[in-house]
Amino acid sequence: MSDPVRAAALARTIARLTPDYPVKIVHVCGTHEATITEHGLRRFLPEPVEVLEGPGCPVCVTPTRDIDAAVKIARKGAILCTFGDMTRVPGTEMTLAAARADGADVRVVLSAAEAASIARNTNREVVFFGVGFETTTPMTAAILLDDPPENLSVIVSHKLIPPAMAALLDLPDNRISAYLAPGHVSVIIGEEPYTPFPRDYGIPVVIGGFEPLDILYAIALILRQLKDGTPRVENGYPRAVRPEGNRRAQELIEQVFEPTDVVWRGIGSIPNSGLRLRDEFRQFDARARFGVTGEEGEETVPGCRCPDVLTARAVPTDCPLFRTTCTPLNPVGPCMVGVEAACNIWYRYGGRPKL
Ligand code: SF4
Repeated sequence: MSDPVRAAALARTIARLTPDYPVKIVHVCGTHEATITEHGLRRFLPEPVEVLEGPGCPVCVTPTRDIDAAVKIARKGAILCTFGDMTRVPGTEMTLAAARADGADVRVVLSAAEAASIARNTNREVVFFGVGFETTTPMTAAILLDDPPENLSVIVSHKLIPPAMAALLDLPDNRISAYLAPGHVSVIIGEEPYTPFPRDYGIPVVIGGFEPLDILYAIALILRQLKDGTPRVENGYPRAVRPEGNRRAQELIEQVFEPTDVVWRGIGSIPNSGLRLRDEFRQFDARARFGVTGEEGEETVPGCRCPDVLTARAVPTDCPLFRTTCTPLNPVGPCMVGVEAACNIWYRYGGRPKL
């Protein structure tokens, strides 16, 4: 899937299909950005075609208020379990890593199941800080449906990708020509949730895989749709994505959660873009259990251009703090923290290749 001969053939196809007007393709997936940047795929794109990452990093878009809630709950004596990158994202006062250094019991886990396992082996309260998109949400739901221990609760910070894609299209200064849709989210949700974009906004949506040839192929499909003037949802990753998605995973999400408006860090509140526990699962709501409710945290850091990066209106090198004040060891904003974050990826792989 990274054969240079086939890549060169796709590059010729892309060149042939490229129009003479600017084309802005936005993806919403840190894994796409990592492949594009690590393999220098932008060098295959003719000048009018640019590809930018939008809000594709769940760590980056987790609002400060959720991190602040996790810090407060950890400092109240609970065992706070979350994914590794989340411990380093700045909150209003501190990161979870700083809370741990200050004595809080913050543990890195790989899944909600690991947090449940910890809860089954202790009498202490265990809180799972659940972040991520449609890919990780079913695992959180499955734990809550499988006779969870009473000392387990969840900070729900799961989010839904299609409403964020719509929010970007609704920004008046954001000229998006097409979406390269995320393969792993699409494995879960299928094709249908993307249908409003060609129908209501007139733009192509192509689901793409994660190998270099997958991405070049998806870009070629997008350009072909633009050339033909036939915007639609097209599956460029059929070896993994079924049109209907994963019905069982969708049912798990539906059983446990219901949509709600939530804040995306750097973007703001997006209608029905997040999830909350249904009434029958409210006893597992960590915020309610610990009396920590909805305070607003500071969502942006002065000088940090994460809001523009997360809305595909800037690339990391547009930020004056990139590589100077802001580095993975000393992240100023959330886009420098996670391995799926644009600034972190550009830092590791050297930014936009100029070949
Ligand atoms: S380089 Fe750092 S400060 Fe600049 S946008 Fe990225 S995360 Fe924010």
